[in-house]
Amino acid sequence: MGETEQQEGWSFETRAIHVGQDPDPATGAVVTPISLSTTFRQSAVGQHQGYEYSRSGNPTRAALETCVASLEGAAHGLSFASGLAAEDNVLRLLAPGQRVLLGNDAYGGTFRLISKVHTGLAWSAVDLLDLDTLAAQWPADTAMVWLETPTNPLLRCVDIEAVSDLAHRRGALVCVDNTFATPALQRPLALGADVVVHSATKYLGGHSDVVGGFLALADSTLAERLRFTQNAAGAVPAPFDCYLTLRGVKTLALRMERHCHNARAVVDLLIGHPAVERVYYPQLPDHPGHAAAAKQMTDFGGMVSFTVRGGMDRALDVAARTTLFTLAESLGAVESLIEHPGRMTHASAAGSPLEVPDNLIRLSVGIEHAADLVADLAQALG
Ligand code: PLP
Repeated sequence: MGETEQQEGWSFETRAIHVGQDPDPATGAVVTPISLSTTFRQSAVGQHQGYEYSRSGNPTRAALETCVASLEGAAHGLSFASGLAAEDNVLRLLAPGQRVLLGNDAYGGTFRLISKVHTGLAWSAVDLLDLDTLAAQWPADTAMVWLETPTNPLLRCVDIEAVSDLAHRRGALVCVDNTFATPALQRPLALGADVVVHSATKYLGGHSDVVGGFLALADSTLAERLRFTQNAAGAVPAPFDCYLTLRGVKTLALRMERHCHNARAVVDLLIGHPAVERVYYPQLPDHPGHAAAAKQMTDFGGMVSFTVRGGMDRALDVAARTTLFTLAESLGAVESLIEHPGRMTHASAAGSPLEVPDNLIRLSVGIEHAADLVADLAQALG
């Protein structure tokens, strides 16, 4: 049995720790070395050992790319200096005048990138949960569907298989932002998506100490085009950042289990709490897209959003009163975070179709003890 075949037989947890991470042949080091060299010796012009210049390829980056590609069930993986750099690379596949269909709930920075940076592209914000209307009103110039599931911050869950099927019948590519679910819970390529994008800053890294992005895909022609832009535009991660992300990935499955467990404890507190207006969590039977989540995810994730009674001032007050939940942007790391999307992560969506309710609070539930998290939220809600 070849090495690749053997690795394909390994389970997710095993691949996270071993794929792309053989002991270093020069020294036997078990941990993937941080390869800082920017350039690599050639024995004759064009003859090298796989690496020439570190923007084009780097051994630590290659280890990360091989590992996360395997976790996504992808043939190709590309890592970037940030999630938005990865997204930018994908959007450069499109030609001026082509249209991106973006879900009407999405990360504000993605909306800003599409609407304010890629100004040559046309875009529409659509309800990706309403497939009948989507099919009936499909713009003919659509070249790509940009799909988050669960979405940021309302955690709406989109049926990846159904949207991919619809998009492909109409000649459009489907890019899925898998940041919130991670490959531990959901694998979009197996459901028909063309490209998976990550903010590796979040669960992949998992410790709030590295900014990164990732693309995973099956198609070799598309991968070649993306790799060309990765090198030509140059938004690559530093080797140390690749090392940190790879270290985070090793514990991804374990962390996701605890994130999901703790999120459920928090949801139990919020449901029926007199200070809470509405709870957003994909496991709840009446949650938008619950059926899609139950079908395509193995668990429901560590993100919980909720609206409070009493409007924005009350939401700001609750966000300022937690002690274990740190008031901060970002998500997906071991420590719990709380934020006010309207004034923080999604401020750039104000006045747009992606504007979020001003009494909304978003929680990134960490892996501390559930009882401590519940007690902290209970005292903040009063
Ligand atoms: N996608 C999602 C769902 C996000 O939440 C974020 C950042 O918060 C991004 C992409 C952008 O990633 P980065 O901040 O690593 O550029």
